[in-house]
Amino acid sequence: MESDGDIKTTPRGFHCTLCNVNLPNKPSLEQHVKGRKHKTLSTVRATRKTQEEHSVFVSGIKPDISQTDIAEYFQQFGPVTDVIMDKDKGAYAIVQFSETESIDAALACVEHQMKGLKLRVKPREKKEFKMIPKKKNDSQNLQQVLDRLKPELCQLASVDAQMKYIVERFQLGENEKKGRSLLVQLLQEVFVEFFPDSQILPFGSSVNTFGIHSCDLDLFLDLENTKVFQARAKSATEQAGEGTSDDGRSEDSILSDIDLTTASPAEVLDLVATILKRCVPSVHKVHVVSSARLPVVKFHHRELNLQGDITINNRLAVRNTRFLQLCSGMEDRLRPLVYTIRYWAKQKQLAGNPSGAGPLLNNYALTLLIIFYLQNCEPSVLPTVDHLKDMACEEEECVIEGWDCTFPSQPIAVPPSKNTQDLCTLLSGFFSFYAKFDFASSVISVREGRALPITDFLQEEQPSKTPHHSPKLGPLNLLDPFELSHNVAGNLNERSHRCFQKECQEAQKYCRSLQYQCKSTKGKSWGLVRLFTPHGEVPHTKTEQLTISIPFKSASLPEELRNQLHMAGDGFRLLWFQKVCAAVEGVLKSVLRCHLAPSTDVVFGEDSAVNAADEMETPSASLNTSADDSINSVDSQNEASPLGTAVVGAKRRLSSGSDASVSPQGKKPRMAKRGNFPHWVCVQKHIVWAGRRKVRRELIKDADSRPEGSCMEMESQVTAHIIEKEPALKEPLKFKVQPQMVGGTESTRAVLKLEPTTDSAGVFHDFFHFLEVFLPKMVETLLGKEAGTV
Ligand code: ATP
Ligand code: MG
Repeated sequence: MESDGDIKTTPRGFHCTLCNVNLPNKPSLEQHVKGRKHKTLSTVRATRKTQEEHSVFVSGIKPDISQTDIAEYFQQFGPVTDVIMDKDKGAYAIVQFSETESIDAALACVEHQMKGLKLRVKPREKKEFKMIPKKKNDSQNLQQVLDRLKPELCQLASVDAQMKYIVERFQLGENEKKGRSLLVQLLQEVFVEFFPDSQILPFGSSVNTFGIHSCDLDLFLDLENTKVFQARAKSATEQAGEGTSDDGRSEDSILSDIDLTTASPAEVLDLVATILKRCVPSVHKVHVVSSARLPVVKFHHRELNLQGDITINNRLAVRNTRFLQLCSGMEDRLRPLVYTIRYWAKQKQLAGNPSGAGPLLNNYALTLLIIFYLQNCEPSVLPTVDHLKDMACEEEECVIEGWDCTFPSQPIAVPPSKNTQDLCTLLSGFFSFYAKFDFASSVISVREGRALPITDFLQEEQPSKTPHHSPKLGPLNLLDPFELSHNVAGNLNERSHRCFQKECQEAQKYCRSLQYQCKSTKGKSWGLVRLFTPHGEVPHTKTEQLTISIPFKSASLPEELRNQLHMAGDGFRLLWFQKVCAAVEGVLKSVLRCHLAPSTDVVFGEDSAVNAADEMETPSASLNTSADDSINSVDSQNEASPLGTAVVGAKRRLSSGSDASVSPQGKKPRMAKRGNFPHWVCVQKHIVWAGRRKVRRELIKDADSRPEGSCMEMESQVTAHIIEKEPALKEPLKFKVQPQMVGGTESTRAVLKLEPTTDSAGVFHDFFHFLEVFLPKMVETLLGKEAGTV
């Protein structure tokens, strides 16, 4: 690898000049070099190099010269494999030969004459291959916009005024709206020529009242009526014999090539793409993305500098856009909140996947999160979708693909909210609400306006019970208001979810400060400005906490355990926690060969009031406790009582005035009472954490290289090997492990607090950092494998 010219050694490890990334150590370097990014860039570079070595640069051409003309002319010097032209200017071309000798022949020719033109032929310039750091440009742009925005915001009088200014500053202007609507009209005229009676309908941010200057234009091509037209034309043709139809339109129409009732979406979209390319002026970069959840044709409009997406089979999106329009019309405070939160999320890189697909929240999901919060304010700012349905009249009934999408068509049908909180308070309330929201144990329902317990979604599907499948569960579960089997945040990964909640917590803290609420008299940044500031500019004081988190990941649990948790209902946390504790004990004892003893010292650290260990018997006795014995539910009034503090999240029930009116889990948070939990004193005599990767590799001999933590037997062998080969510590390391269950008022998880008691060799921190990664992985493996036995 040292011979790899792309890798440079730096004082902090390594730097890959090809991909422009820093790697802290050799293992991560090895991984990087084997990874997709490095491999793809190496291949692209090699292809470019071959192209450069096989081609010449030709200038002096005119726009009426075609690629074929050039290819034909240069064939005299050798076989031509490709001709690339700058189509817009028609000024130059790159001619690629299959053999390098042809280049010499072409360059040796003194004069190149073609169609009366004198061509200049030069060798290709050899350019150094460099990756364009696209992301950096994006964030630089964001920073520039924010830099301009800062002084404008600071001079306003209140946070409310700042939020309204954000709307003014970013919303689509009248001209932009006009441009978009003219393009829609033009597309309508073109498409109806090829797909008689079809309709092109805009949806998404262009029309949902939350659009910003650069937002894309989402379009739905409705071919339902075209299908009817086609069926009629077909039967008329059959009756009348060959070649004619009822109005004669279909014969030379594109429709004669395709049967819309049987064609796949990709086939239809290919046709749509062809029409766009050939018949719509200024449209370019047309391509079909058939791998998306809903296949789509993407295009760009040059004059409007607009990205467009055309989908078919997307009637629900048009309807949910109508729903967002209705919410906006019912409640004036919604737009400033949505614009502000969307902007905040963009600054913090929480939302807006750059290429459409990705692991971040999309703007639709983020808007639904805002609506859900407003439904849960006290009194509520927005009604639930179920309530809206009750307010609709008969003519407004609407069912799409079996889903009830009924709501009033006009905001006037909905009584105004009794909530009078200002924008500043509602914004800080949003952050508080999600800062302590138990995402892991909830499925958010905008339809019902409450968090549904995750246990309701853990049981195996029973096709007879519901006509639709269950939603795909993930770290954030947010049901579409109409398509109730669809988790609109199903694309989110653990990291994106963690970042979202962490940023909400940071924002919540900031919103409590005077700096948020009051205009600075000294001209300092205040209000929204600090909220939008990206990371690194606000100094964080972080005290190290020796805790390890094991999140409750409903999506990765095996079927048997999901069913058990489903049966446990409200008490699922305790049951899951017991299984986690048993798994932790197994890993410490059997895999890492720690000697475990029950602690005699009951009080542990400052937070002893919230430790579940203060009723401890012995670890093994507690593991035998049946979940049913120790599970109870308490209502929300008990949250502040000493009993309620058994669940750590409950302790943080702080009221800041601004958010006290909101209960995070809908109206009735469910909590588990404290039970008997184990807590261990561990003794480790060997440095079992050092060199594991090497030992594992030797043991497996690269035959079936399993990743770290994926197999208990292998990991136990690795430990045994280290113990056998490496000398023991002079004095054993002793530390306590205190498990706590967290949930209800923050994301459900098990938290292990670690504290060294004897560490004369000073190795505890190394062991802790190893455990931080190793334990959660092993516990996940064990829970996955031994659902019935742990
Ligand atoms: P922007 O384009 O500014 O990011 P948007 O609201 O248009 O915002 P898109 O991601 O372009 O968001 O989505 C357009 C529309 O498609 C949404 O308004 C919604 O109707 C529908 N949509 C988007 N994502 C989902 C999803 N995950 N589930 C269901 N419908 C979705
Ligand atoms: Mg959009």
